[in-house]
Amino acid sequence: MNIILLGPPGAGKGTQAKRIEERHGMVQLSTGDMLRAAVKAGTEVGKIADGIMKSGALVPNDVVVSIIADRIDQPDAQRGFILDGFPRNVAQAEALDAMLDKKGLKLDHVIQMEVDDEALVERITGRYTCGNCGAGYHDTFKPTKVEGQCDVCGSHDMVRRADDNETTVRSRLDTYYKETAPLLPYYKERGNLVQLDGMAPMDQVTEEIENVLAAEQRLGG
Ligand code: ADP
Ligand code: ADP
Ligand code: ZN
Repeated sequence: MNIILLGPPGAGKGTQAKRIEERHGMVQLSTGDMLRAAVKAGTEVGKIADGIMKSGALVPNDVVVSIIADRIDQPDAQRGFILDGFPRNVAQAEALDAMLDKKGLKLDHVIQMEVDDEALVERITGRYTCGNCGAGYHDTFKPTKVEGQCDVCGSHDMVRRADDNETTVRSRLDTYYKETAPLLPYYKERGNLVQLDGMAPMDQVTEEIENVLAAEQRLGG
């Protein structure tokens, strides 16, 4: 099964993708994570992406499309993938359709999580992750059990993203409404869009996603 998690920054895409990954053995393909890794490693792609990501704009389509095309070809992606943060505009969605067609693959669901803007700002400004294992946390909504120590791996290396500040978040939200929101009618027309209440608590959102995936399995997908 191949799915897209769609939603504004802070909607809960990464949180839910990690849960689906664990339960279903699918892989999370996050262009944001891949770009941050490229920035950290100082690659050519990283040099292009760094300043753009700090401004809250989108990295050029050819860069992210080629990253995803390479990633989908890896053996682990053959068990099914969860696209998190890609596509982010109609041109990327068209490139993805062409890519999947060529490989004989299909998209089973596009799951959109709806969250109010003010809640998004609160989620993003309180977000931090474990630099060692990638587990995600929030100052208010999901703090670590012991302050400053990862629940999963025990690491004390907690990191906050350079773009997770109020100014950049507002700019990322603008980018979302201008460039990414047009994907909603795009996928609605194709009949595989499911919209969920992303304001609900994390476990409830997970349950709703599980219902969508289970319905697919009953149909033999
Ligand atoms: P969030 O999880 O908050 O939605 P991401 O980690 O997905 O944020 O993305 C962070 C930044 O990386 C974006 O603001 C953008 O600059 C860049 N980026 C990530 N994915 C894409 C993409 N598919 N197309 C263009 N830029 C992207
Ligand atoms: P995205 O990948 O869409 O940018 P994340 O999954 O990183 O979003 O979530 C953003 C922040 O909000 C994280 O700190 C996460 O712990 C928190 N969060 C995620 N889902 C919820 C939820 N349903 N309710 C409250 N906080 C949430
Ligand atoms: Zn950890």
